Amino acid sequence: MGVILDEKALERFDIYAKLLKEWNEKINLTAITDPEGITVKHFLDSLSLFKVADLPKGAKLIDVGTGAGFPGVALLIARPDLKITLLDSTGKKLKVIEDILFNMDLEAEILHARAEEAARKAEYREKFDFSTARAVANLRELSEYCLPFVKKGGTFISLKAAKAQEEIDGAKKAISLLGGEILKAESFELLDAGERNIILIKKISQTSPKYPRPSAKISKNPLV
Ligand code: SAM
Repeated sequence: MGVILDEKALERFDIYAKLLKEWNEKINLTAITDPEGITVKHFLDSLSLFKVADLPKGAKLIDVGTGAGFPGVALLIARPDLKITLLDSTGKKLKVIEDILFNMDLEAEILHARAEEAARKAEYREKFDFSTARAVANLRELSEYCLPFVKKGGTFISLKAAKAQEEIDGAKKAISLLGGEILKAESFELLDAGERNIILIKKISQTSPKYPRPSAKISKNPLV
């Protein structure tokens, strides 16, 4: 996947898998609980981002709708130099992440907020080199959540399963209105887990202060 994991990283992935399984018995975090599933469909899937995107040392990245930490926590294990913000609207998932990070001796900023609200705040708006998201929303809506966080010259990285081209076609207009441009979309097979797509969207101009709109508007009046 374009990344070398040292002993420390492998040890941390073991701790992460163990704690995910334990926490999942108390709160619903993931439907995938077998060790091989966690390794391939969560860890490897998250790390596949490195196949396509080059993240400079110390880059600032926000993972939008991180849930149980994918891809954000997996990226941090592989690259502890990254300055990662983990955002989710569900507080109890973030509490789990806090516990997991503590046990792995890793640090990240935890942000309990809705993406469309945080992205309107000066401290987060256009402050990141990268934003990422996996399994959060359709690319058209997701772009409105994720592009406002990215600085001009930065990149929004969307991790998708199959049928990404349809989503890209439906999101082109929205991406352009939000100041983005599709740089590339790479399709590959994640071992035997099926097709995956990584879409890189470059921020070429500032996002208009009109965006992001409140969530009800984002879903009811898509940018087309
Ligand atoms: N990214 C993780 C993964 O791939 O396993 C979690 C995916 S889960 C299906 C979607 C997550 O996005 C949930 O944790 C949910 O709380 C969060 N979410 C959905 N809409 C959001 C929004 N507008 N702002 C912040 N978080 C959001």
